[in-house]
Amino acid sequence: SDKRLGELTVDSTTCGYCAVGCRFDVYTDGEEVLATRATDPEESPVNDISTCVKGKFSYSFANSEERLTDPLVRDENGEWREATWDEALSRVVEGFQDIIDEYGNEAMSVIASSKATNEENYLMGKFARQVLGTNTVDNCNRLCHSSTVAGLAKTYGYGAASISVKDFEEADLIFLTGSNTTEAHPVLGTRVKQHVKEGGELIVFDPRETQIAEYADQYTSIRPGYDTVWVNGVTRYIIENDLYDEEFVEERTDGFEEVKEAVSEFTLDYVEEVTGAPPEDIVSAAEAIAEADRTVFGWTLGITEHSHGTDNVASLANLAAITGNVGKPGTGVSPFRGQNNVQGGGGDMGPLPDNFPGYQKVADDEVRAKFEEAWDCEIPAERGYYTTEMFNAFDDGDLEGMFCIGENPSLSEPGKKHADEVLADMEFLVVQDLFMNETAKYADVVLPAVSFLEKEGTFANTDRRVQKVNQVLEKKGNAKADWEILQALANRMGREWDYADTNEINEEMRSLTPIYGGISHERVEEEGGIQWPCWDEDHPGTERLYTEEFNTENGKANLTPVGYAEPMSPQTEEFPLTLTTGRVLYQYHTGTMTHPEEGIMKYNDRDFVEINPDTAASYGIEDGDPVRIESDKGEIVVTAQVTERIGEEAVFAPIHFAETAVNTLTDSERLDPEAKTPEFKATAVRISPVEGK
Ligand code: SF4
Repeated sequence: SDKRLGELTVDSTTCGYCAVGCRFDVYTDGEEVLATRATDPEESPVNDISTCVKGKFSYSFANSEERLTDPLVRDENGEWREATWDEALSRVVEGFQDIIDEYGNEAMSVIASSKATNEENYLMGKFARQVLGTNTVDNCNRLCHSSTVAGLAKTYGYGAASISVKDFEEADLIFLTGSNTTEAHPVLGTRVKQHVKEGGELIVFDPRETQIAEYADQYTSIRPGYDTVWVNGVTRYIIENDLYDEEFVEERTDGFEEVKEAVSEFTLDYVEEVTGAPPEDIVSAAEAIAEADRTVFGWTLGITEHSHGTDNVASLANLAAITGNVGKPGTGVSPFRGQNNVQGGGGDMGPLPDNFPGYQKVADDEVRAKFEEAWDCEIPAERGYYTTEMFNAFDDGDLEGMFCIGENPSLSEPGKKHADEVLADMEFLVVQDLFMNETAKYADVVLPAVSFLEKEGTFANTDRRVQKVNQVLEKKGNAKADWEILQALANRMGREWDYADTNEINEEMRSLTPIYGGISHERVEEEGGIQWPCWDEDHPGTERLYTEEFNTENGKANLTPVGYAEPMSPQTEEFPLTLTTGRVLYQYHTGTMTHPEEGIMKYNDRDFVEINPDTAASYGIEDGDPVRIESDKGEIVVTAQVTERIGEEAVFAPIHFAETAVNTLTDSERLDPEAKTPEFKATAVRISPVEGK
């Protein structure tokens, strides 16, 4: 733009990349983001003055040539052509209605979007139940932290972080595992580094020596996929040596004896044999937790994306509780959530097969009756399919149609080949997105949506903080906000939705959702964010959960015995290495928002595989060589990055590019039995140099 700074519009909003939830001022000429700056720290308690490379620079996607600006429908030859909203919406309604008429309401499915606002996600859940008549509505939280939600819900009560970001400052010790903090949650990474700089202690257990591990007082390399073993090892050592918090255990927990019994077999030698963690590391970690007055336990997908992710989380919750590290300043559990609004839109708003907004249970007759009355519809008592189950249910003929909003399952689901086959075979698929992503290529109708820069509403971040999203750009072309599209569809399908704006949606939502009861847009604007639970207009919100009681029937933590668990795809002679997948700083998920950004692509324009130097040497692989990775599900070829960061038995590959599509190697059937989270973090593979290189 040739406009001067003084001629630009400035408004503050909440970052749409990750769930740290940084706030910043956006300078625009109405069409383009020209600059960003961290908001006044008073209004941005999460990031203070920091933002990261994505939050600061990565906005070209909003004006990318590739943006969808008009609806697309198939012509008589199956080719795409642009259509008016009227025609496209008619086609969608006809398609949904045909499925319902022929196969019943429960043959429809909805994938909701954790990129969208709380208000939109509330409507996605309502649309599935009221308009389509099904509980089969789920979202990306199934692929990442649903095991956190299940593991924490059964031990402490709420499937969310117990702490505030500022507890990182007040902790003596931060204990991190399975978190590539500086790359996946950069501003939290800065906070952890600051904690170390100010003399705080940091312990990291991880199969990869990530950048944050370089700051740690203790880094322990572990074999991927055996986390209950080393966590139980630490817990056993603490119990056997009377290093636990007897008073806390006595007064605030149930189940201690059962946990004591369950961990008794996890001796130091056994832990070393299974996980590779040296006995002295287990001892020093246990002693450090016992000696510290205040410990925060942080984890990410390295703990959750396993076929036993719920057990992993429960074992960490046990450890935090028996050492009295819950409910006091500088203590608690902090699962770092991934997408910008996966806490709010993906969880709190209840576009979930078994939950309504605010984690109110579909199976609870009273709760269901409340929503049936409010939404004027009948709602089945049985839960719907989880996302990972949906793809198998299409195979079985139990589902026939899908409304996929702001997600890209062709790349993000485990088992790419299977996901693509299911998408290609669907009787009717509608995709609503900013871009013609890999999933949209299989659709019957594609509806153009707008980004968080082009709409109003709220997001909830990783510490349960609801923050305002403000429109800073004009909507692109004829694209519409998700809530506007949903409203138009609902009305064409016989409902009378009449929301003038997202504030009206929020008012309806909070009247039905006790934990959001006092969170009005007005207060969120005024107070710079409110953390749930916030029961009413006079409630200040909740910085820290469980200060007096856990959210369980008797108010005590349910310590949950957890045993040995291994990956569903353990190493074999044929597949002697373990693949673990993840993210890099410069990219975001399947890349729809970051790939249009030239500056970002200069740093990272392809996926790669990290291999330990000894492992690489044994296969005759050098840095930069093309490498074939094979699992029992398929093969891909990527470039080798030979590095000490990764242990000898593991390899690591990012998930960001369709060209190499690492989920070709993972499996749609290897799921956590409770949360149905896929095992992205441990797949047995073999590697080989590509001949003729
Ligand atoms: Fe955005 Fe996350 Fe970066 Fe903050 S840390 S600026 S929320 S991507």
